[in-house]
Amino acid sequence: MIPHSRPFIDPQDREEVDKALASGCLAQGEQVALFERDLCSFIGVRHGAAVSSGTAALHLALAALGTGPGDEVVVPSFVCSALLNAVHYTGAKAVPADIDPLTYNLDAVDTARRIGKKTKAIIVPHLFGTAADLDEVISLGVPVIEDCAQSVGSLYKERFTGSRGLISIFSFYATKVIATGEGGMAVSNDGGLMESIRDLREYDGKANYRIRFNYKMTDFQAAMGRSQLRKLPAFIERRREIAGRYNETLGKLGVAVPQTRPDRDHIYYRYVLPRPPETFLKAMQEMGVGCRKPVFKPLHGYLGLFGYPNTEAAWRKSVSVPIYPGLNENEIRTVTEAMKEACSRI
Ligand SMILES: *Cc1c(COP(=O)(O)O)cnc(C)c1O
Repeated sequence: MIPHSRPFIDPQDREEVDKALASGCLAQGEQVALFERDLCSFIGVRHGAAVSSGTAALHLALAALGTGPGDEVVVPSFVCSALLNAVHYTGAKAVPADIDPLTYNLDAVDTARRIGKKTKAIIVPHLFGTAADLDEVISLGVPVIEDCAQSVGSLYKERFTGSRGLISIFSFYATKVIATGEGGMAVSNDGGLMESIRDLREYDGKANYRIRFNYKMTDFQAAMGRSQLRKLPAFIERRREIAGRYNETLGKLGVAVPQTRPDRDHIYYRYVLPRPPETFLKAMQEMGVGCRKPVFKPLHGYLGLFGYPNTEAAWRKSVSVPIYPGLNENEIRTVTEAMKEACSRI
């Protein structure tokens, strides 16, 4: 069985983790500071704070903006429930908006309709590895948090995603583009906001009391993150090669391949096809290929809301097939053959 996702860990990663363990510093220390420095210089932002997950990074980003009860935060409906949780942790209300059917990302026009006096922030994920209409959303005049959990290393108008938002967040969960097991980071060019995020991430050694969190990353995770980050350009190159093979196969069948806009690129964190999940997933499973719905359930569904036609259409007709640097040639052939067969049946 070819799993839907699989982390890529090499002897270099293991050596770096081993060195960090041997140093005797297990919790947040020098490696964390160096990982923050490395990712910031790669993305092109001034400040970073590594945390225990992407969800924690989102929570602290919202908290640093002063988000609380009575506030609203606009999020796309077609995304994982981590965003809903992060908004609800602050006591604010999540307001889902519909998506652009071409890129599956937040639709700026629908977002504009959902903004009001209570709107504190907009969270903009760059889903599946290609950027949302970021400038259109930023021009609405509300603080923007870029969610780069799936887009580290992807470009929007010649700059990396994560370099334009007031705050941007990353995830290094086991199956993300670069992995530390669990982990995340918040980055920003705003020193004051980052000071607040750093203060909220740990509870000890403070002169005053306020509710703070324990969202720190360990040094051995950071050592692995640094090692993975060095491989990011190679990871992306390999993902694009595999996507090229899938595009070739599906192009011949007349099946729509993943699209983006001319002013951005795609790192293919996910390779998503317009097929009904129920039948496609079962067919692929029979041929030994693990596939998934790219989004388990849209947020408006959890909230009991209606009026999200593009999200509904995407949910009814999208599947994600295995794509990661660790796939070998045999596996790629198995996936392409299975896709051919499944697409011809459905
Ligand atoms: C994975 C993910 C998150 C949450 O990150 P965790 O590290 O799992 O908490 C948030 N947003 C998006 C778009 C994600 O893909």
